[in-house]
Amino acid sequence: MTETDNTPSTTVMADTEMIEMVEVIKGKPVVPGVVYAPVTWVTARPALPEPTETVAEDRRDAEYEAFTAAVETVSGRLAARAEHVDGHARQVLEATVAIARDRAWARKVKKSVAAGQTNQYAVRQATEDFIGMFLKAGGVMAERVTDLADVRDRVIAELRGDPEPGIPQVDTPHVLLADDLAPADTATLDPSLIVAVVTEKGGATSHTAIIARQLDIPCVVATGPTLRSVAQDAPVVVDGGLGTVETGVDADEATRRVADAAALAEKVRAWTGPAQTSDGQRVQLLANVQDGATARQAAESVAEGIGLFRTELCFLSETEEPTVDEQAEKYAEVFRAFPEGKVVVRTLDAGSDKPVPFVNAEDEENPALGVRGLRIARGNQELLERQLDGIALALEMSGRTAASAHTWVMAPMVATVYEAKWFAELCHDRGLTAGAMIEVPAAALMAEKMMSYLDFVSIGTNDLTQYTMAADRLSSSLAYLTDPWQPAVLHLVHTTCRAGSVTRTAVGVCGEAAADPVLACVLTGLGVNSLSAATPALAAVGARLGDVDFVTCREMAAAALNAEGAEEARAAAGAVIGL
Ligand code: PEP
Ligand code: MG
Repeated sequence: MTETDNTPSTTVMADTEMIEMVEVIKGKPVVPGVVYAPVTWVTARPALPEPTETVAEDRRDAEYEAFTAAVETVSGRLAARAEHVDGHARQVLEATVAIARDRAWARKVKKSVAAGQTNQYAVRQATEDFIGMFLKAGGVMAERVTDLADVRDRVIAELRGDPEPGIPQVDTPHVLLADDLAPADTATLDPSLIVAVVTEKGGATSHTAIIARQLDIPCVVATGPTLRSVAQDAPVVVDGGLGTVETGVDADEATRRVADAAALAEKVRAWTGPAQTSDGQRVQLLANVQDGATARQAAESVAEGIGLFRTELCFLSETEEPTVDEQAEKYAEVFRAFPEGKVVVRTLDAGSDKPVPFVNAEDEENPALGVRGLRIARGNQELLERQLDGIALALEMSGRTAASAHTWVMAPMVATVYEAKWFAELCHDRGLTAGAMIEVPAAALMAEKMMSYLDFVSIGTNDLTQYTMAADRLSSSLAYLTDPWQPAVLHLVHTTCRAGSVTRTAVGVCGEAAADPVLACVLTGLGVNSLSAATPALAAVGARLGDVDFVTCREMAAAALNAEGAEEARAAAGAVIGL
């Protein structure tokens, strides 16, 4: 996962009359969609109580009874709301009621009150104990911490006679901002009045994210504290696909962007494939998968097949090498998801950011430049041969024939013509169609020679960018370099495509670049025949390609190749189609 850069960036937009400052706050994109509306902040949570003097012994029972009455009122109110909603919203409210009525929590409060604490401070302490336990458990449990804090705040507000904390009433559409949203608040959101949600904290699986997805309202989480600079009622543009919140945008410009995004979303929803330019140049649109489940999900989508099956992701926790039969079971599941369609299987790309315990035993000083991918098989050819046997067996098990034109096998991290030839022979011995990933600059430069041994190639733009720019793909501070729009990377794609056209060898792209609709047009213009990306990204790519003719794709490609940097390339290609 890439980290988010939360530093707000300020763009100066020049107008003939005035100069307006646009501030962009970045977070994690959760639900796509663009809206323009004033913001409203959630009502402040109560200040947490501090310890006071010990409560007199004869008042302690009453202190505890006041607590149970407050719990009853708060949970009763939430339960009543639960009755008016369905589905996940109802479950969320019921889960919050269950936390409020939790006996272990009440027992802790009771114990502290019996020892002389005020009921408010006892609630704070008991909740902090539970929060500590949940955080220690990590993962999904840690994301439930917001639920606990929400119950605490509601009960404390009730004990003080203060209004319930949470979402203020609005009667026109607003963007809701919060440090984090309580599940009970998000559960009752009215999507006609709260048109987007942005939170400082939270993760992709937090309740805020789950509910926003269910209501289909644009959502950005984890902006960090810079969000606090947005004043109550300030109009903002929220782009849930990019994960941005912008203030200071000209109203006409904002309205145009909202309309453009809505039109595009409609087109994407209606797009069913197959992918081709507006004048009929076909491009295969394929999915990147990692197991049977993701392959079946792809089969339900517009994907025509699978362009990258990352087999190493099946084995990330295996300490012993799975047998040929066990491997075949896993691979057959993926083949069965696409009985007719193309499936490109990649042999183990173990190492670097994806170490596989049974393969990568030794720590390396510099694993991205170390023994990863096909290089492992140089010292352990049997490992590769057993995997190829497993793939061949899976083809039989799933009713495909090994020689069938639509089952392809490729090696990762191929750097020399010798490696390409050696891998191709091992595949051809088993009747498998053989290819190589082009993800090392040396492979792009030598592609034409490699193609005399290979049946196809697929460009892995993630690693090709990393190695071309000498920039770690996991580093957020080097994100400006690890951008597939870097013209140097596009030149290597171009070199590979030219080799493909000379040798009549199919050239695909299976890195993240294929998920960018505008870059997909550039890649098509460069001569790429297939694009493979995460399933949810495919329809937007197909819809954009359908709007552009092939000559325009070539013009976009020429503009990007001619640029001096990634931003210029993006802008120059976009300008060809009026973006
Ligand atoms: C790539 O490098 O572009 C690629 C598709 O492989 P991975 O992301 O699995 O390294
Ligand atoms: Mg790679």
